Amino acid sequence: MLKKNRLFTPGPTPLLPSAQVAMASYGAHHRTADFRTLFARVLADLKEFVGTQNEVLVLSSSGTGFMEASVSNLTSPGDKVLVLTAGKFGERWISLAEAFDCNVDVLSAPYGSTFSTEEVKKRLTPDIRCAYVQATESSTGARHDVEAIAKLVRAMPDTLLVVDAITGLGTTHFDVDGWGLDMIIGGSQKALMIPPGLAYGAISERAWQRMETTKSPRYYFDLRKERKSAAKAETAYTPATSLFAGLAAALDYVRQMGDGNLAAGRKALVDSAEMCAAMTRAGVEALGLKLFSPRAPAAALTAVAAPAGADSTAICKRFRDQFGAVVANGQAEMKGQLFRIAHIGYYDYLDTAGVLAALEQVIAEVTGKAVEFGCAVKAAQEVYKQRVASSE
Ligand SMILES: *Cc1c(COP(=O)(O)O)cnc(C)c1O
Repeated sequence: MLKKNRLFTPGPTPLLPSAQVAMASYGAHHRTADFRTLFARVLADLKEFVGTQNEVLVLSSSGTGFMEASVSNLTSPGDKVLVLTAGKFGERWISLAEAFDCNVDVLSAPYGSTFSTEEVKKRLTPDIRCAYVQATESSTGARHDVEAIAKLVRAMPDTLLVVDAITGLGTTHFDVDGWGLDMIIGGSQKALMIPPGLAYGAISERAWQRMETTKSPRYYFDLRKERKSAAKAETAYTPATSLFAGLAAALDYVRQMGDGNLAAGRKALVDSAEMCAAMTRAGVEALGLKLFSPRAPAAALTAVAAPAGADSTAICKRFRDQFGAVVANGQAEMKGQLFRIAHIGYYDYLDTAGVLAALEQVIAEVTGKAVEFGCAVKAAQEVYKQRVASSE
């Protein structure tokens, strides 16, 4: 049977056709008025997409580049930082902070869960210079309560809060300025529907002030230098110009989702991810499968535990070989234990129904047990109907 290659991974995500066209035809030099116009527009639109008055910068790197920038620009060697981690991306914060010789305090929750507010409160002491957390932990499908964490951090006069929202932005509602997030970071290959290669972040006034005195080494990811260039609608070094053209098209698409209002479009995009995630969870559970992060599931992706006696590597392989669907396996030590279906960005009802219909076939094949075909799709349809009815 014909197989279309489709991504269900939590980055990269399906590409927006209008962004692909924009990227393919873009050839302007980056020190020209044409590019400056595009760049200024993208920065202004990104502020609305993030939902902040804070300054937004874009770096030509993958998301981890901005994560590194948040450590190298906001800390000095020996600074005490607190990392809240419950997965592979949380562990990346630990490695990054150690690479810059921070004194790293770690609060960890088991894979598949999140931290209680009480635990975070106990660990937050006034000497902590920065706290680092994910909004959505893409390795386990868990959502962390950024609002509650921010409330605790804001009670500390000297602690900055940095949020890796690389799969959170566009799938999760944030009040960046109201909650007082000092840095919130996103990546182009997630909800913004374009290929990997750009990372963006919104930076608070408190964070800019911190950068006046911090001493960790930095060169390419020097945010103060980028800020100076951005004031002239330029980047410090050669940017990934065609990705900027794609990003402008993607932000236009989100604006159209909001009938001309980008903030409304962002809300619609998040609501769409919430709907696809709720449909997926219902479908998975109807098949008798267990969510890997049942207590705080993210809208960005659904992580599903491999059924007893089955290996998720075989499930992912079957998805790809039989249906051309790329579903993500567990990362590192979670490999074989779970598979992940994302709902990020350019991803809709038909994608959701299709992947669940394929999941029914895959589970029947891999477990050798009888599956009632249609049960996952039906459960998802019921969720859709109820949610649409209750929002009318
Ligand atoms: C994708 C992702 C990243 C960034 O990874 P890159 O490969 O550097 O783009 C970081 N954190 C989370 C939660 C992610 O999902």
